[in-house]
Amino acid sequence: MNIHEYQGKEILRQYGVAVPEGKVAFTVDEAVEAAKELGTSVNVVKAQIHAGGRGKAGGVKVAKNLDEVRTYAGDILGKVLVTHQTGPEGKEVKRLLIEQGCDIQKEYYVGIVVDRDTGRVVMMASEEGGTEIEEVAEKTPEKIFKEVVDPAVGLQAFQARKLAYSINIPTKLVNKAVKFMIGLYTAFVEKDCSIAEINPLVVTGDGNVMALDAKLNFDSNALYRHADILEYRDLDEEDEKEIQASKFDLSYIALDGNIGCMVNGAGLAMATMDIIKHYGGDPANFLDVGGGATTEKVKEAFKIILSDDNVKGIFVNIFGGIMRCDIIANGVVQAAKQIQLDRPLVVRLEGTNVEQGKEILNQSGLNIVAADSMADGAQKIVELVK
Ligand code: ADP
Ligand code: MG
Repeated sequence: MNIHEYQGKEILRQYGVAVPEGKVAFTVDEAVEAAKELGTSVNVVKAQIHAGGRGKAGGVKVAKNLDEVRTYAGDILGKVLVTHQTGPEGKEVKRLLIEQGCDIQKEYYVGIVVDRDTGRVVMMASEEGGTEIEEVAEKTPEKIFKEVVDPAVGLQAFQARKLAYSINIPTKLVNKAVKFMIGLYTAFVEKDCSIAEINPLVVTGDGNVMALDAKLNFDSNALYRHADILEYRDLDEEDEKEIQASKFDLSYIALDGNIGCMVNGAGLAMATMDIIKHYGGDPANFLDVGGGATTEKVKEAFKIILSDDNVKGIFVNIFGGIMRCDIIANGVVQAAKQIQLDRPLVVRLEGTNVEQGKEILNQSGLNIVAADSMADGAQKIVELVK
């Protein structure tokens, strides 16, 4: 799960990580009021969306007085920001962070991720702050320093110090940087983050080490033990189809292709997407209906797929082991009857109760193309959506 920058900063503050004073605003008047309350001479008006790259897209503006706060807030609120992380459709700005302007001496980068190779939490730091770290990693990888954390003891001060020296934090501020990094690490672990990225971390004119930006992502599987984080969920930022899917406990991820997929089992779902690609098609979603899905669940899954206007055809690929083919067939038929099924449907069923499943589909009156194998089904659906 993703949260907004201002929410991330609220969490960081609890862990002693220095962040500028700031307030969230939902209207222009609230933005001006927030700036008044902050009482600083320079404020920054920042679009709050679940994507980075806002600065370059015009979503971060420095205001030198209240009139400018009003102007910028008016400009940014309601605007659709298109950044390299939003996709071409962009994201509408519905909240702002009004923040104290910082006297930046230099920008750095600090991030924490779970590294799949070592199976450990890794802290990364770079002197190239403000720019995208992906770009730094590609062009000048030697400018990124890493410390692998031993989970038994956590991030050690000497590791943080090593990072701080490697990225040339001014010597007299190294202790502050160490406190910052350890606070960030503690927040990461205690809140079950999957990513914590501070870009930029800054050294200020008055000798502080601060987080000017904060991107925190959380492991959804751990959210049950973080009621406070769940409160931060902003449904406006999420795909409506994914919200609907989560209500029915379906593993669904929207993608930008045009072939809707209904599959059971994450591995088979991945393989199905691969084989569609192999035959020159593009999957519109990842969907695992799971092992113990009911007719009701399958029906909802099918409705979610159909609610995507990009979907030009559907491929149902079921291997009935725990899942029974007749349940899938019933769900498909019920959903198709509720919503006029107006797009081609290819079905490949195999496994438990496969004959019954085929029977249900055959007698449904639906226009179904039967497939003998995964490859056959993928080829057929790719052909049909062309
Ligand atoms: P994004 O990464 O989405 O572009 P950031 O929060 O990193 O957004 O802001 C972009 C840039 O704006 C920063 O690199 C920094 O130079 C400047 N900036 C952001 N917040 C402040 C602030 N409070 N004071 C001064 N400058 C800021
Ligand atoms: Mg940033």
